[in-house]
Amino acid sequence: MALRFYNTLTQRVEPFTPLHDNVVRMYTCGPTVYNYVHIGNLRSFTAQDILRRWLQARGYQMDHVMNITDVEDKIIRNASAEHKSLTEYTEKYTQGFLEDTAALRLQRPERLVKATEHITEMVQAIQDLERGGYTYESEGSIYYRISKFPEYGKLSHNDFSGIRAGARVDVDEYDKANARDFVLWKARKDGEPFWDSAIGPGRPGWHIECSVMAMKYLGETLDIHAGGVDLVFPHHENEIAQSEAITSKPFARFWLHSEFLNIDAQKMSKSAGNFYTLRDLREMGYAPEPIRYLLASVPYRKKLNFTFDGLKAAATAIDRLRNFKLRIETDRFAEGANEALIERTESAAKQFGDSLDDDLNTAEALAALFEYVRDANTAMDSGEFRAGNIPAALELLDQFDRIFDVLRPSATDDAMSDAQVEGLVAERAQAKKNRDFARGDQIRKQLLDAGIILEDTKEGARWKRK
Ligand SMILES: [Zn+2]
Repeated sequence: MALRFYNTLTQRVEPFTPLHDNVVRMYTCGPTVYNYVHIGNLRSFTAQDILRRWLQARGYQMDHVMNITDVEDKIIRNASAEHKSLTEYTEKYTQGFLEDTAALRLQRPERLVKATEHITEMVQAIQDLERGGYTYESEGSIYYRISKFPEYGKLSHNDFSGIRAGARVDVDEYDKANARDFVLWKARKDGEPFWDSAIGPGRPGWHIECSVMAMKYLGETLDIHAGGVDLVFPHHENEIAQSEAITSKPFARFWLHSEFLNIDAQKMSKSAGNFYTLRDLREMGYAPEPIRYLLASVPYRKKLNFTFDGLKAAATAIDRLRNFKLRIETDRFAEGANEALIERTESAAKQFGDSLDDDLNTAEALAALFEYVRDANTAMDSGEFRAGNIPAALELLDQFDRIFDVLRPSATDDAMSDAQVEGLVAERAQAKKNRDFARGDQIRKQLLDAGIILEDTKEGARWKRK
């Protein structure tokens, strides 16, 4: 079965190939830089990273555009509360976003584009909509008339035909029950930043920025538009209404949405005290790899229940894989190859790929890998794993890590000094001499966690840093 994704637009799982050549033109809604991103946001971004990596593993090239929303109601409110300019305020959180996503090893999109650098294009798009009769003006603001776009509701699968014409909203975020004509251009207000333009002084609404930047860089029809489920309505619905009114072409062929993240089965909120940013979790002592693993391990269309037990289990899972890799790299195996095990490795690799082809079923892909690791460990214990089985085993781990990217430990400020390592290596040699194998294993693990690989030779243990 070929690569396929669930498409929110058609409500079906459909085979995926890009429209042109080998290049996937993808747009994802980036952060609104008024604060540090929380792990709910990071779940969406991690899902998009897995998507990117898998498309590349399947031989496609990415042309991925992500916007940085750097003018918006909340930003303006917060910046003015801190007596900062828009740029000064958003720069800090844009930087924070780049640091957090890099720590989680999210590949940088080919293009990261800022809303405030595309005001001219947004004004032009609003003028296009004006000419098509899709807009009206009220007190200096310009609104999109949704009754003029009969397909409004086709992405969120809502029927908005009964909506009262002329009722409108000025805020960027609202729910289905409050669906109204939405704002494209907000009239200048005292104390707020604004741009002088042919459509009057003001600033753009949130929705128009994504339509404009997506089409500017990727053309009128995108292969994939992705985001969190909370963006389906109104944001993505409005993006379709704007873009398709301008071009009369489908705006995006595939719409992929990742589900919510709950904390201890509850909605994350500041008032419930269960609101975490990546920075919070790292301050609590959690490394980025288990966080990344946990966010990626649940298929993106399932709700993810984030718990600290889950985070610890993720760390244990990563340890198992790192230990397995270390064992392959440092144990001594008899010559030759075990044919049955070669087949076992091939079938695990195939299952891993088939699972990700199936709408990125990460849980099944991981299950395939861990079943293999269990079998291979058993084969090692019984001496059936041979030197000739090493390359395929390492390749399978690489295949996994090109997508999940958790095997390399993050550098920490408290890396072990050479003297500390030597001390532990000597202590381990003594423990082995005393037949205290538990202590020996404990030290090996401690070293591994610190990024030190041990190799036992006839002349004693050798070590290297990863
Ligand atoms: Zn967007």
